[in-house]
Amino acid sequence: MALRIGGKEVRRGTVEQIFLKVSEYYTSTPVNVPVTVIRGEERGPIVFLTAAIHGDELNGVEIVRRVMTGYTPRQLRGTLICVPVMNRVGFLTHTRYLPGRRDLNRYFPGDSHGNAASRYAHTLFTEIVGPSRYGVDLHTASVGRTNLPHIRADMSSKKVRRIARAFGTEIIIDSPGPPRTLRAAATAAGVATIIFEAGETFRFQRNMVSRGVGGVRNVLAALNMTGDTRKEPRFRVVVKVSEWVRSVKGGIADILVRPGEIIYAGDEIASITNPFGREVSMVRSPLTGLIIGITTMPMVNPGDTICHVAKLEKTLATVENFCITDSHGKKMLLS
Ligand SMILES: [Zn+2]
Repeated sequence: MALRIGGKEVRRGTVEQIFLKVSEYYTSTPVNVPVTVIRGEERGPIVFLTAAIHGDELNGVEIVRRVMTGYTPRQLRGTLICVPVMNRVGFLTHTRYLPGRRDLNRYFPGDSHGNAASRYAHTLFTEIVGPSRYGVDLHTASVGRTNLPHIRADMSSKKVRRIARAFGTEIIIDSPGPPRTLRAAATAAGVATIIFEAGETFRFQRNMVSRGVGGVRNVLAALNMTGDTRKEPRFRVVVKVSEWVRSVKGGIADILVRPGEIIYAGDEIASITNPFGREVSMVRSPLTGLIIGITTMPMVNPGDTICHVAKLEKTLATVENFCITDSHGKKMLLS
């Protein structure tokens, strides 16, 4: 069957570099999103790999680059559609958003007659998600936060479960994702999609990038698209409940936890002090679990998030087994 992206036909056994026009700047020049399509000589599934839908989340840009330069059509069964920068406008202006602070990842599947963001999303959805069977969307924490590498996936779908497990992170957060995200809209349209979350904005973090590259290669191996051997994680925990722990008081936070640390109900998470140097409150964990994200900014208002905890119950002992205990008695997942 013919595969066409941005009006260009991609033949079996070829690599095509395509500028996909998704909008126009007010200078009347096109907003082009660069797409690389690697179409294997042999038949197989079509998989999309996308990054920087939030224009400031850069680890995925490098993950896509490394994956797409790692395969020739001869080494691939099926097709890989690679989009290192989905939000071209935000990427150029160093922001998460499209103009008007619109979050592109809340407009899928888009609408060709809708607002600017909906039209942008509609073209990406039609051209990139449309022909695909599976997808991996790459993210980092939002600005001022950092995340432990993990997968978010709707584990009630068998196809999603298959690639979420194959990716090979220790932690999988089982959730359908907010409505109108690329992941939720693609999965609803029958294109099983997961997201990989790792690290922070505005940088390339070598260890996060290599975890991502390894994970995508694991997914392609699991779908029999490559001859790679899949690597299994040390353990795998599917988390159903995660909670944000918030500051009650405003002040300067001294955060006492790190991503990858086990926290027990009642443990100290952050000491909040006022500008006179006095402690105004101690934030304690309301639950037992693994820290999967923290804020990196010490200034907090009442209600601001300090950390994100994946709740562990039956699986606590499993995770504890793979932790080291540091000199303060804290249990930390080995990276
Ligand atoms: Zn994101």
